Formats: sequence, C-alpha cells, structure tokens
Amino acid sequence: MELNGYLKDIFEDYKIENLQFSSRYLPYKDLNIFLESQLSGNFTKTTIGYSELGKPIYALDFGKGNKKILMWSQMHGNESTTTKAILDLINFMSIYANTAYVRTIFEKCKIRIIPMLNPDGASSYTRFNANEIDLNRDALEKSQLETKSFFECFNSFEPDYCFNLHGQRTIFGAGASESSATMSFLAPAYDEMLSINKPREIAMKLIVSANELLQDLIPNQIGRYDDAHNINCYGDYLQSHNVPTVLFEAGHYNNDYCRNKTRRFVCLSILKMLFVIGNDAIDKFDIKEYFKIPLNKKSFFDIIIKNVKNAKSNYIGIQYDEELIDGNIVFKPYIKSLDDLDSFYAHRLIDADNKFVYVNGLDFIEKNTVINSLKLGNEELGLKLKNC
Ligand SMILES: [Zn+2]
Repeated sequence: MELNGYLKDIFEDYKIENLQFSSRYLPYKDLNIFLESQLSGNFTKTTIGYSELGKPIYALDFGKGNKKILMWSQMHGNESTTTKAILDLINFMSIYANTAYVRTIFEKCKIRIIPMLNPDGASSYTRFNANEIDLNRDALEKSQLETKSFFECFNSFEPDYCFNLHGQRTIFGAGASESSATMSFLAPAYDEMLSINKPREIAMKLIVSANELLQDLIPNQIGRYDDAHNINCYGDYLQSHNVPTVLFEAGHYNNDYCRNKTRRFVCLSILKMLFVIGNDAIDKFDIKEYFKIPLNKKSFFDIIIKNVKNAKSNYIGIQYDEELIDGNIVFKPYIKSLDDLDSFYAHRLIDADNKFVYVNGLDFIEKNTVINSLKLGNEELGLKLKNC
C-alpha cells in the first residue's frame, strides 16, 4: 500500500498558509462561519440536539457506504486542535473530491462528524460545559443535554467505529525519551482488567495504522494514553458496548503552541484510518505494534531553569496557563515546581549558570507564583509567547 507516500505528499501540498482558524480559540460562532460558508455539497448538516445554553449541536454526514464511523470533537471546550483538524478534513474531502482516495471513502464509508459537542465550553474556552460538568465523565449518567444529544445520535446512527477526539497538555512525553507526545492514542479498556476483545483489538489496529504513517513524520513523538478503566468516559463506555473506539489526543509539537502543526497530524491520522477501514485493511496491522508505542509520561515542563543559585533544589519548573483574553489565548507562565527536575525534560531549557534568578523583582522564589518578569542576574529573560 503506497498510501503513506500519497498522504505524505498531500501533507506537503496542503499548505499551512491555507489553514483557517489558526487561533487556539475556536468558539461556536467561528464553527458556524465555517459551516455556513465552506461546507461543500458532499456534506449534509443536521442538528442532533442542543447544549445547556441552547446552542444547536451539529452533525455532518459524508459518504454512502456501509462502514459507519462516528467522530466527535471538542467535548472539552478548550481542546480545539482536533476540531480544526476536522475542518481541514472537510476541506480536504472537498478539494480532493475527485481523487481515487476520497471517492473510495465516499463509496465505502458513511461518516458522521460532530465537530463541537460542547459549544458552550468552546465559547468560554473551558473544559467543562455550562453547568461545569466534565462531559467525559457523564457517559453512564447522561445528566447533561450534550450527552443526551450524543447518545441519541449514537443510537440512531449505530456506528461500527468511533473516533473520540481530544487535546492533551504540554506535560506529556512519549515514553522515557526526550520526545514530546505530539500525538497520543488509546484503545480504551472495556473492563477493569484491561482485557482485549475483538472491538478493542480493532481499535488497536487502527492506531497501529496511523502510527506507521506518523513515525515517518514525527519519529518517536507518538504516545499511548493511560488506559485505566473508567466507565464514565465515553471511550470506555462505548468500547464496553462493543463499538471499537479510538481516542485521539492532540499534543505539543516543538514551538507550536498554537498547534497548527499538530492539527495536520490529527487530520492525516484520520485520513489513514478511514482508508484502512474503507479498504477492509484493518487486519493487515498487528496489535503487537500497538504495545510497542511508548506510554505517555508526565515528563515535560514548558520551561526548566537549571543551576539556579537561590532555588532550593537549583531547579525552577515553569508551566504556561492558558487564559482567554479579548478573543485570544494568552499564555501565562507560573512556577509549577521547585523540586529536583533532573529526570524531567523541557520544551525550553535555560541554564542559569549558578546565578540568582529574580521573579517579579524578588530573589525569593515560591511555587505557584505567576511570572510577570524574570531576571537571570541582571539579564531580563523573555518568557512571553505569542498569543494564539
Ligand atoms: Zn479532552
């Protein structure tokens, strides 16, 4: 199958300049702009229900085949990367509509996409919905309108495969290596014992197919997400109902805090899995390869400053908090750890060379301090990131 080469060429061709909605903030109104102006005739839009604040939740249908795939994004409102990947996917299916690739998908598959399951959370850039409920803990109880809408849609569509699309923080490395987990996947467990049945095996094989493609593009930057079983999570719940479900986690790529590189890896992974499903090629992949994907490890800080004279262990570990201000995501640095961080990695490593570090003008360094200014000796260090 020379599909990997084909998809990689498209990846090069599909220029980042063309990408829309490059901000980390993707509110409901922007989704509507896209759906009203750019949804091609190959897609049909329906309303599957309403959010707690009364916003319509949409589904987009594509294809006329008998292999049914349901995917949903942004059930956590601040996880916009996979939604952007879905908009890219929709654009891709339109731009490349006449290629053998897209025609195959259209003929063999029936795809239903819920691009934004939590429109209220997306608009406020919060993980939770308007009632401050984490929808991904509501699968069993179904107490929220968003969850009810989802399961009505799920029950009427009866998918053969589910793609559960999320974003993860910058703290994850892929295994013990010094590689950021730019993409992570999980075939969620359906029981406490983490048993493997046929549906879970299918999810694992799909992940292997995407991993094979991604390893060429971002070697060693693919991780496996923690598989502790929690029946309240959508993935675990669906897998326990025998629907193969793949969890996607869009993560950090070097300097890409806006995540416009990662979104393309998400889009490519979906394209690869769709093709494998459409062509009955799932069994070409081996679950042994799934277990070779290293486990996600909480091994990264955004910034580590080492050899700090006035820090108790000589290290300062800094993380960025994301805050929505005037329609932009602003990254606010704060001191996350003052422990010995020798075994941790950083997206940016700074050597203080045994100098004093002054945070907000003071030589007293305390955990959880929001950093407005940071001086290394007499030298001012810029920690500010571009807003997204
Ligand atoms: Zn999430």
